[in-house]
Amino acid sequence: MLETMLKAVFPGSFDPPTLGHLNIIERAASIFDELLVMVAENRLKKYLFSVEERITIMTELVKPWKNVSVVICDTLIVEFMKQRDVRILVRGVRGPTDFAYEFELSMMNKGLDSNIETIFMTTDPEYFVLRSSAIKELASFHGDVSGMVPPLVAEALQTKY
Ligand code: ADP
Repeated sequence: MLETMLKAVFPGSFDPPTLGHLNIIERAASIFDELLVMVAENRLKKYLFSVEERITIMTELVKPWKNVSVVICDTLIVEFMKQRDVRILVRGVRGPTDFAYEFELSMMNKGLDSNIETIFMTTDPEYFVLRSSAIKELASFHGDVSGMVPPLVAEALQTKY
């Protein structure tokens, strides 16, 4: 039987990574042979953490999974996937609002490259309220974010604010 390696990408801003992102990474890593976490660098977006900081943090966080690696993505996702010969794009969905946005995005990517398959993973219930933007806001008011992000990220947020 011909064995094919199932490779997938999980793209995102990860500004900063949350326990919700890590939960998707853990579950995707258990399904696919290889998972590339793509940290987006989009000149039109304003980030709290630089792409170097987000890559450094994410690389540290994915160490437990041998089949997960972290890469920077400063081009169109579909272009990047074509270069790396990856067809599966994983996105996390927290609820209907996320789904509406993610669905449109997947249609756009399909239009750009019909070879791309987007796979949606629903959040685990305990993470469905976790959102990087809300966590940054809470951290800026020195609120407790320890139950929402890994300790490394909590420290990084404390340093920023
Ligand atoms: P982007 O700016 O590309 O949306 P994010 O870093 O906000 O990047 O999110 C990356 C992916 O992770 C998205 O698919 C998003 O829906 C998903 N995600 C974010 N938070 C959670 C969560 N708590 N549970 C499940 N998926 C999540």
